[in-house]
Amino acid sequence: MAGGNIIRGTRVGSGPMGENERGQAAPRVRIAFHCANGHEASPAFAADADVPEEWDCPKCGLPAGRDSAKPPTARTTEVYKTHIAYVRERRTDADGEALLDEALQKLRARRGEV
Ligand SMILES: [Zn+2]
Repeated sequence: MAGGNIIRGTRVGSGPMGENERGQAAPRVRIAFHCANGHEASPAFAADADVPEEWDCPKCGLPAGRDSAKPPTARTTEVYKTHIAYVRERRTDADGEALLDEALQKLRARRGEV
């Protein structure tokens, strides 16, 4: 349609009711993010902007999430934790020795020492 006079006035600051006198250039929303250290950051976003899932905490640099109950864990520990580190967390020392024994026996068997 070429007329275009149907939705006139919905643009921010040009409304027919004089909203532009309030001096708000664009609608903004503050979104609270929480990091694992309990800090809260609330950066402002344009109302129509995509709000990210995570925000770097300005106080400690940890990633902060929008759910204060479960803030994201630091990426570094996740990235640098090896598979064996996870295994060690789940196993007791006794389990570890049993596994080591088993591994050694297999190794010796392969070498023909058993
Ligand atoms: Zn923080």
